[in-house]
This record gives sequence, structure tokens and C-alpha cells, in this order.
Amino acid sequence: MIDRNQFIKQLFNSLLAMTGIQSLSAFKNLTDTFPILNYTMPVLFVGHGSPMNGIEDNAFSQRWTAIAKEMPQPTAVLAISAHWYTKGTLITAMEHPKTIHDFGGFPKALYDVQYPAPGNAMLAKETAALIHTTPVGLDHDWGLDHGTWTIVRHMYPLANIPVLQLSIDYSKGPNFHYELAKELQQLRRKGVLIIGSGNMVHNLGMIAWDKLNEPAYGYDWALELNQTFKELILKKEHNTLIHYDRLGKAGQLAIPTPEHYLPLLYSLALQEKNDTVSFFNDTAVGGSLTMTSVKIG
Ligand code: ZN
Repeated sequence: MIDRNQFIKQLFNSLLAMTGIQSLSAFKNLTDTFPILNYTMPVLFVGHGSPMNGIEDNAFSQRWTAIAKEMPQPTAVLAISAHWYTKGTLITAMEHPKTIHDFGGFPKALYDVQYPAPGNAMLAKETAALIHTTPVGLDHDWGLDHGTWTIVRHMYPLANIPVLQLSIDYSKGPNFHYELAKELQQLRRKGVLIIGSGNMVHNLGMIAWDKLNEPAYGYDWALELNQTFKELILKKEHNTLIHYDRLGKAGQLAIPTPEHYLPLLYSLALQEKNDTVSFFNDTAVGGSLTMTSVKIG
């Protein structure tokens, strides 16, 4: 004679057997968006610079196109863009994110660009559930801002890979963002390409407009800090990078406001022990901006 609990257990096991599912944990995986892969997707920090890079065929955009071909095809892209700066943390959860032209005074050709990549509502929910440091709201209003689409359209021109954005909570300090980003780790094993999109050195108020076309023109403090950032990244001195407010006068000039710098912390937080780190588009533009970008893994 079997008791009630045993009966339920046996019934459940035979139901699992009928569906070919071996255990409860396997059942849980079936509800996930993507399976765990036998490799770990690299992570990028990309300096996006001028929105015109979205339509120009230049050294920066050519490198974006090339780097996509050097990595496995991602299952999805999750971008943390400097241009989605919100109260609280949100993730885009619509199936068809719109292309947002969040800039002024550029040629019509830039406003004409549409990047019709799909979203992925399931992945949005799954990602929100991975994050425990703060509640994550599912967003149906945003879309893809220029911090994301100007880069991703060069990487994946067919717009056939789902693209999601995670917002940056402006009310929180750098350490909060670094710790939150760590919770996205599992996505790398599911083939999701995480891209932090900003600029390490970004002071638009000090741009030398007359030097914009002079290649690699950077003020002394910008070049100095670019070097410092690269050394700290290579030495994995993330704690110093998190406390960027202690980088002195050059730090204050390079990071007058944090929104273009914080995406770097999201990317660095995802670095694992055996990841290699390399730089690309390592150059200054217009004196007070650097395009320096990082590939991790
Ligand atoms: Zn920007």
C-alpha cells in the first residue's frame, strides 16, 4: 500500500517520463529562453561617439563590422546604453523595439535610419529575474536608442538578432551598477552578447569643434586618462575604476557626468578569470572624447 505523498510522487515521475523530461531542474531549463552553451560569449564595451558613426563607413564602423565576424553569432544582444538613463532599472520587453533618433541637428539621412531588429519578451523576463540587487521593470515604451543601433546595425546589418536594452539607474552609484552587472553572467553562457555603450572620456562641453577632422586629436589630460584606463583594465583594478571620482583633475574633466562611463563598469563586471582583454578603436576624437573600446573574452 502506498501513501498519498508517494502516489503523487509516482504520478509526477510517470508524467515526467512521458514527456521525456528527466528531472525537475531539466524541466526548469525548458522554460528558459536559450540553452546553456559549451562556450562563453565575449562581452564588449564600445565607445559610440557621434551618432554619424551609425551611417558613416569609417575606421570605427568598419571595426564594429569586423569584430562581429570574429565572434560567434549571438543568440541576442543586450545593450547598456549611456542614452537610457532612468529612475530605477528597466529592460525593454517589447517584441518590436522602435528605432529612436535621440539627437538633434543631424542630416536627414540619419533620421531616416530604421533598424528593425526584433526584441524578445521572454529573454527580458528571464533577465529581470536574474537580477536581485534591485527590481527590474519590463518596459514597453523605449526601444533602441542611438547608443545601441548606431553600433549594432554595423555588426548585424540583417537585423535578424533580437536586441534588448537595460537602462542605467541615475539615482545609484557606480558600485551598484558594477554589482548589478555581475548578475547578468549567466547570459554569456547562453550566447547573449552584452555591450556596454558609452565613451570612457566624454566631455562634450570641451570638444574642439575645429579639430574634429584631425585624426586622433586628444587633449593631454584625455590621452593621459585613456592610458590610465587601459592600464587599470589590463591589471583588473576594477575597484580603482569604480571609484573614478578619485582619479584627480583629469578624471573630473573626462567624466563630468557619469552616464557615458558607467556602461564600462557593466562590461568589466562580467570579466571572468580566464578572459583575455583587448582594445580596439583606441583613439581620441575632437580633444575631449575617446572611442577606446574593450573586448573581454
Ligand atoms: Zn553618447
